[in-house]
Formats: sequence, C-alpha cells, structure tokens
Amino acid sequence: MRYGMGAVIALLVVALAVCAMLSRKSKRTMAPSVAKLIGALVMPVTGNLVIILSGDRTLSILGYFTYFLGMNLVMFTMLGFTFRYCHMPRPSQGMKWLAYGLLIADAAQLLCNPIFHHAFDTEAIQVAGAAYYRLIPYAGQTFHRVVCYGIFLAIVGIFFWKMVTAPRLYLERYAVIFLSMVVVGIWETFYIFSRSPIDRSMIGFGCFGLLVYYFAVYYKPVRLLDRMLANVASQMLQGVFFFDAGGRCVWVNRAGRETFHIDRDNFEPSAELLTEIFGDISGEEWVRHEAIMDGSERKYYQLEKHSIQDSRGRTAGAFLSIMDETERHLAAEKDRYDATHDSLTGLYSREYLYERIRKTVDANPDRTYMICFLDINDFKMVNDVFGREFGDYALKCVADSLRRDLGPECLYGRLSGDTFGMCIPKENFAPEIAVAALSRFTISRDGAEFHLIIHQGVYEVAERNIEVPDMFDRASMALESIKDEYNVQLAVYDDAMRDGALWAQRIAGELPEAIRTGQLRPYLQAIVNEKGRVVGAEALARWIHPTEGFLAPYRFIPTLEKNGMIAQVDRHMWRCACEILTKWKDNDLFISINVSPKDFYFMDVVKELTGLVREYGVEPARLRVEITETVMMTDEAKRIEILKALREAGFIVEMDDFGSGYSSLNMLKDMPVDVVKIDMAFLRKTEDDARARTILSSIMQMTNSLKLSSISEGVETAEQFMNLRDMGCGMFQGYYFAKPMAVEDFMGLLDKSCAPA
Ligand code: C2E
Ligand code: MG
Ligand code: MG
Repeated sequence: MRYGMGAVIALLVVALAVCAMLSRKSKRTMAPSVAKLIGALVMPVTGNLVIILSGDRTLSILGYFTYFLGMNLVMFTMLGFTFRYCHMPRPSQGMKWLAYGLLIADAAQLLCNPIFHHAFDTEAIQVAGAAYYRLIPYAGQTFHRVVCYGIFLAIVGIFFWKMVTAPRLYLERYAVIFLSMVVVGIWETFYIFSRSPIDRSMIGFGCFGLLVYYFAVYYKPVRLLDRMLANVASQMLQGVFFFDAGGRCVWVNRAGRETFHIDRDNFEPSAELLTEIFGDISGEEWVRHEAIMDGSERKYYQLEKHSIQDSRGRTAGAFLSIMDETERHLAAEKDRYDATHDSLTGLYSREYLYERIRKTVDANPDRTYMICFLDINDFKMVNDVFGREFGDYALKCVADSLRRDLGPECLYGRLSGDTFGMCIPKENFAPEIAVAALSRFTISRDGAEFHLIIHQGVYEVAERNIEVPDMFDRASMALESIKDEYNVQLAVYDDAMRDGALWAQRIAGELPEAIRTGQLRPYLQAIVNEKGRVVGAEALARWIHPTEGFLAPYRFIPTLEKNGMIAQVDRHMWRCACEILTKWKDNDLFISINVSPKDFYFMDVVKELTGLVREYGVEPARLRVEITETVMMTDEAKRIEILKALREAGFIVEMDDFGSGYSSLNMLKDMPVDVVKIDMAFLRKTEDDARARTILSSIMQMTNSLKLSSISEGVETAEQFMNLRDMGCGMFQGYYFAKPMAVEDFMGLLDKSCAPA
C-alpha cells in the first residue's frame, strides 16, 4: 500500500514535469503562469514522495521541508495564475505584499525550525513493515497551515465568485477548477485531522495540476465555440440555410426565415421554396447572382453554396447563404448614373457622351453621323440679368427640347455650362427643322417670355478615326463662324474653317514679330481734291510676310479684330503715320488712319492719339481719324464723348464707310464728325443708275447743309469722278487716282496731278 502510493505519486511527478515543459512551449497567453504553477506543484509532491519512500529520519525531514516550502511556492504561483485565469483586475500593492510577506515570513520561520524546533518534529512509526517518520506539528506548523489555507481559501473564493457571475457559457471553465480545489482542500484537511501517516491528498494536488494544464493550456471550449458560431449565424444579415447530407433543410437563421416567410418549427419545405424562387439550388460549391421580381419590385440576390465535409472528407451537409443585394445594386446603379449624367439636366455628361459616340461611330461603319455643337448666345447675360435660378431653368428647357425632338438613335448630352452636344445619324439630320427650332427658342415663365439665341455648329463625321473631342472642336469651329450673327443659326464645318482657324492661330503668334521687324507697314492711298490734286492719304495696313508674301488686310484684319490684337496693329500704324508726317515738312498733306471699334476696349484712344502727336510734334489736324458707325453700337454716350474729345484735341474725325451699315443716317445725327466718307458701294453698278445717283446727290446735299465735308471712296472711273464732283463732293479716293502704294512710291505722286487730263 505504502509503495503502491509511492508509485502513483512518482507517476504524478513525472506527469506534472511533462505538463510544465509542454506549458513552457505553448504559445497560449495563460501558458507561462500555468508552467510556473505546475512546476511549483512538483516540489511538494516530490517532498511527499521522499517522505513516503524513505525510512531515514534526515531524509524524511528534508522531504517535509521540501513539502512545506513547496506549498508556499505553490500558493505564490497559484495567486498569479488565478488573477490571470479569472481576468481579475490587478490587486493593490498592499494586498500583494500582505500575501507575499506572509508566504516569505512563513518560509523563513520554517527554515528556522532546526534551531528553535518550533514548527515540527518527526516520530518513527512502522508502516508496511518499515520505518516511517510521521510529522509532529508545533506552533510554527500551525502558522504555516493558517497562511496556506488563508491564501487557498481566498483563491477558492475568487473562483466561486467567477463561477457565479460569469456568463453561463464560461461556467465549466471555472467550475472544474473550483470543484477540484474544493476536493483537494477537503482531502488535505482530512489528512491533517485524521493523523493518518501518509498524505494521500498529494494525489489530489497532482491531479489538480493536470486539470489546470488541461483547462488553461490544452482545452478548447467547443461548446462555447458552438454557441458563438450559432449566435453569429443567427444574427447574420444574409439568410443562412443548413442542409443535411440528404439535402433536407435542417436549420434556417432569422434573416432567412423572415425574408422567405419560413416557419421556425418546420424548416423542411425551405429547399422546395428556394428552388421555386431561384431555380435549381443543388450542387456543392457555387456562387451566383439572381434578379427576381417581388411584386412590382425587382430584387437582387447573391447566392453562395458550400458543402460541409466530415473529418474523413465525406459530405456531411451543405449551407446556402442568400444575400439581398438590392440596396447595394441600386446604390451602384445610382453612382453609375451620377457619374454618367449631368446633375442639372439629366442629360449625359460630357465624358459619357464622348464614350457613347465613340462606341456608336465605331460599331456602325456604314453610317454617317453629324456631330452638333449647340451654344446659347450670351448665356452669362441671362444669368446676370434673370438670376442663376432662371439660368438653370433655361438650361433644363433646352435639355427637354433635345429629349423631345431627337429620336432614339441620337445621342446627346451637356458639354459644359451653356453648350450641348449631339450625334445624329445623317439620314435623321434635318437642318431646316433644327434651324426652325433654334430660331424661335422661347422660355416662358411666370407669364413672361424670354427669347434665347442659340447657335449650332455641325460637323459631318468624314474622318471617323479622329477623337470625339476633335469632332466637337470642328463643330465648334463652324459655330464660331456665326457666333456674332443673329439671323444665322446653323453652320456646317468645312475644311476651310479649320484652315482659317489654323491661320488665325498662326498670325496671332507671328504678329508681334511682324510689328517689331516692320513686316507690317502702312501703304498710302492718295486722297485728291476736286482738281485732282493730292491733299492727303489713307494709311492702309499691309503685311509683307516672309513666307506668305504680300498680305492684304482681309487676310489678317478680321481675325485680329476678333481676338483683339487689332489694337496692336493700329497703335503701330498710327505711330508709322506720325513718323511719315514728321518727314513731310515741306507739304501740308494729311494722313487718315483707321480706328477699329475694338480699339476702344483695349486702350484710351484719345490719350493714345494725343500722346502720339505730342511725341512726334505733329499737328493733330494732319492726322485724320477714320471711325465706322459700328463704334456707336455699344456704349453710345461714352463713344460720343470720345469723338468730341478727339475733335477738341484738334483731330479731324471722319465717318468711314458711310452708307454700308444699317443706320448710317441715324448715326450721322448723333456722331460728332467733320467728314463723311461715302462707301464705295454707292458707286457699284446697279440696275437703276439714276436712282443711285439721286441718293448720292441727296447725301452730298445733306452733308453740305450739315456743314460736313465729304470724301467718296472707290472712285474707279473718270465718269464717276466727274459726276461726284458735279454733285458737290469735295474729295475723292479710288483706283482711278491711285492704288494704295508703298510710302516711297507715294512721294512720286505729289508732283503730278492725279486728275484726268
Ligand atoms: P477702308 O478703311 O474703307 O479702306 C478702303 C479700302 O478700299 C482699302 O482696302 C482700299 O484699298 C480700297 N479701295 C480704295 N479705292 C478703291 C477702288 O477704287 N476700288 C476698290 N475695289 N477698292 C478700293 P484695303 O486696303 O484692302 O483695306 C480694307 C479695309 O481694311 C479698310 O477699309 C479698313 O477697314 C481695314 N483696314 C486697312 N488697314 C487698316 C488698319 O491699319 N487698321 C484698321 N483698323 N483697319 C484697317
Ligand atoms: Mg478707312
Ligand atoms: Mg472705307
């Protein structure tokens, strides 16, 4: 019996040592404190083994020391283990040192036993026919027991408290250790009071160590995992269906039950119901997307099926998850819509329109398409005058009209603020209808009507390979050519337009150099009096281009007028005119210079001209200023002030091209000018010459009575000259006398009369 017990305890020592080593190697967070506790347990159990097996007094005393000090170490490590295992908050420093202090004091007093003999002694008895040294406890031993029991009971209390308060799922985790501690505690107490020679409770301590190892390091809480997974599956947003190996539905989570109205007590009809809704759901591993009609609503689902294998790889069942993706699908659809549509008008956005046009043109190589660029004239003004809200409303009206008028084969969208783009198959393109729609585009709101001026540039896609934005550039180029016109709504692109645009770009780039190097220079055209004597000249710009040769004004003036660079030309021409006048010291000829209406936007014309005559010391009356009636089209009052200021400064102001505009007579009433230059159009051959002559002579009479001088432009024949002279015209300009010529050549004219012999 004694040795049988010894063998059992020896086995436990080995088992504890193995568990301590395994714990040290384990990566689980509890492992280090478990290793310490089990390692500590080896000591008292070994001490007991020595006591049981030895028949020698000294050895037995050593065994008792190992046993008692080992118990102190066990209590010490058990405290650390308990706090970790039970997730206790860290104890206060006071509590900690009280426990450790007691254990250290107890160990110290036990170690003093050989000197004071106060803790214990041994007495030899016979057990199993051999000497056995039984413990005789004294006061020191009682102290040792009080300390160890005190700490032990505190630990049992902690486990009890955790057992009562922790969620039920964790009960077994605490209960097993709590119960084993209670058993060990009772067993040990029994030994103490029974005075039985051999301490069998050590088996309990050993088993306790093994249990701790099992629960803290080895054990995986399967029940806990099961419950957690079941909870997760239950709470999942997608419907989850479990099937057994025979394909029968055995469980459905809450979402699945609610979505498909499945009775929570009878899952079996689920498979049939799902097949009815989604079609075949057999098979083991698949994912698919389904769109189904739910009443009038379209719903989108993702179905995912997986099989479940047992440990031998046999199919034990399957689960199907069904995710309602309707919201995500609609959100994605909305995102796609937002990215491809203009938020104000709901038309395609520019990028998306380009993309659609590209695909359409590429997919239909046999069809010809018209690319249209639509622009609302002066839309900024609409915004400024009527407010942004009205502007937005106007844009929506334009968009609605496109929707209404364009067929399903047409693509259209908003390109930018006030421009729209369209792509129309050629056979559907009806310019007359488009023009009719554009020319009477009226917006009605709150009883008021507002007329929008809309222009349309069209490019017939002849080069299919160019980028869509380039197609629109061409349509826009066509539009640009009619932008300032109120009666023309539509223009179709031709290559000349592109050449024109390229040319415009080129001369804009080259102009500064042309001015600096004198490629741009004045030619002079003589102006003669009624005797044919040269009295002055008009300075007309010519560009002697290094590669293009001689350029007449029509090649560059209109373009430069458009982009505003005309002001640079005029400033240069005026300066040249002044230079020429300074050289003409021995005559009193004048030079007429042209002033473009655009000049007024870019400079203070009065300041510029007065500055020039002052700089060159030229008498202002010798620099005549030609201004056309179009100058008066904007800001009339201000322009009248400018003309007055010029006259006050001593310049002679001439109204150029009189009669070529819409309201020359009207202008004459208000424009403060000295001279009227009658447009050459009056001299052109007409069917009824007598009628033209009557008008001309009336103009002469009128200018005379207004005390204005007159110059007739474009005189080409002697007959014209004589007739005009007879009508009372004072000065003449035209090829009949001289064509515009280089300044050097002009000087040769001065000596001879230009009048017919
Ligand atoms: P404009 O100021 O009315 O100039 C008269 C134009 O009539 C000149 O054409 C002249 O060469 C032309 N002309 C003169 N006599 C006859 C004739 O008997 N028969 C015909 N068929 N034509 C005649 P040009 O030089 O080509 O200038 C055209 C227009 O270009 C000018 O018309 C003027 O508006 C503009 N321009 C010319 N130089 C300048 C300039 O330096 N600055 C500005 N702003 N405009 C200029
Ligand atoms: Mg002129
Ligand atoms: Mg003229």
